[in-house]
Order: sequence, then C-alpha cells, then structure tokens
Amino acid sequence: MLQVIADLDRCVGAGQCVLTEPGVFDQDQEDGTVVILDDTPEDERTITRVREAIHICPSRALALAESGASGRTDTP
Ligand code: SF4
Repeated sequence: MLQVIADLDRCVGAGQCVLTEPGVFDQDQEDGTVVILDDTPEDERTITRVREAIHICPSRALALAESGASGRTDTP
C-alpha cells in the first residue's frame, strides 16, 4: 500500500497540492500548510494525481512511500 507523506517543515502553503487532488490534500486554516485527508489512497486515478501533486509541489514537501501491511491480520 502506498502512503502519502508530507514534511510540514518544508511546506510553504502554496496550495498546489490541494488544487491538484482536493480529495487527499487540504490546507490548515491558520498557517496554510498541507493537511493530508487520506494518507493511503487506493484508487489509481487518485494516486496518479497525488504523484502529480508531488511533482509540482514547489517545496518538495510531499512524497509517496511504500507502507507494508505487516502487523495487520485480516482474519475472516
Ligand atoms: S503544494 Fe507543497 S508547499 Fe504547497 S501546500 Fe502542498 S505540500 Fe505545501
């Protein structure tokens, strides 16, 4: 599973990510820094937009990381 990661120390609150994928990104009401609404999007189209947002973020504050599902046991 892919996980969306944001480095708030780098975020300058430009809001490009919110414009690109408002289902995943929002901005803090006070300082404008990014807020992750959905850190593990599964929809391919959404993930594509997240990659786009990562690409255009002016401060390189965003990343996608592989998050292993270890530790979770889905028993029927
Ligand atoms: S585009 Fe980058 S700098 Fe702008 S709000 Fe999003 S994470 Fe922050």
